[in-house]
Amino acid sequence: MSVTLKINPKQFKQLTDYYSAQLVNPVPYSEFRAKAGSVTITGYTSGKVLFQGNGAESEAAKWSEIGAESPSKSKSTNKDNLSELPNGFVNWTIIGNDEVGNGSYFGALTVVSCYLPKDKQALIKELGVKDSKELSDPQIRELAWQIKETIPYHLTVCSPIDYNRGVGKLNANGIKVSLHNFTIQQLIKKLSKEQLNELEGVLIDQFTPEANYRKYLKNEDSPYTEKLYFVKKGESHHLAVACASIIARDAFLESLETLGKPYGVTLPSGAGVNIDQFAARLIKQAGVEVLDKTAKKHFKNTQKALKIAKMN
Ligand code: MN
Repeated sequence: MSVTLKINPKQFKQLTDYYSAQLVNPVPYSEFRAKAGSVTITGYTSGKVLFQGNGAESEAAKWSEIGAESPSKSKSTNKDNLSELPNGFVNWTIIGNDEVGNGSYFGALTVVSCYLPKDKQALIKELGVKDSKELSDPQIRELAWQIKETIPYHLTVCSPIDYNRGVGKLNANGIKVSLHNFTIQQLIKKLSKEQLNELEGVLIDQFTPEANYRKYLKNEDSPYTEKLYFVKKGESHHLAVACASIIARDAFLESLETLGKPYGVTLPSGAGVNIDQFAARLIKQAGVEVLDKTAKKHFKNTQKALKIAKMN
């Protein structure tokens, strides 16, 4: 399995930076060669990048989705391409934001802001920080701990109880905007004057168009609006977002354990059919109120689980 992408010099540089911790010996005519899991990535002088091996397609998709052009396809019309961030953004001192748990029926919604100064980037890379989707749960848990020791961050855990209460007033995007804004503000309170002076931007892993984010922001008592940037797959654009994603994922996993403990289970992640079954068993064991404390009740899973619980 192999996939090639043709990218512009700016994108090439960002791709080179992204894989800089995973370099192996280059081959003739190549600028670099790296290994990410079972995928070998080779960047050629021509600007062509070759992805080879098991998982090549999904590794390449990370880049094609953000604007790199596949020679075999017609011109990409994706708006969220690399060039929307300023040149050299990958090396800026920024706050990176991400949330986890939004797509999972059970568990908390966790939002994290991380402040990553330029001079800590190398260290963070050495720890092995990368896209949290490429890391196992035990790796996430260990890395989260190490990141927390290394850089300033703020973690906001929105429990299912708080979330279900919030859904009465706001929709899911409104809740997320409110949580991201709150988390940024809390982190800023922890930063020194010097650290704030160094701050060049705040990058949010995009979950809704910027205009929408700013619209919801108007409902906030204390909206943070300066130097905001939005990009999809934020963790591949800046390590600050990758750090935020890892801490958020760790806290989400912890919520699945903690919230399940009173019922003798670890709650499962996701929102598929198996989740309906699990929820139905939990309802039969502990009553329907169990969902208030463990689940995001506005998901369709609630009705399906209730139906299953009644049938059995
Ligand atoms: Mn995200």
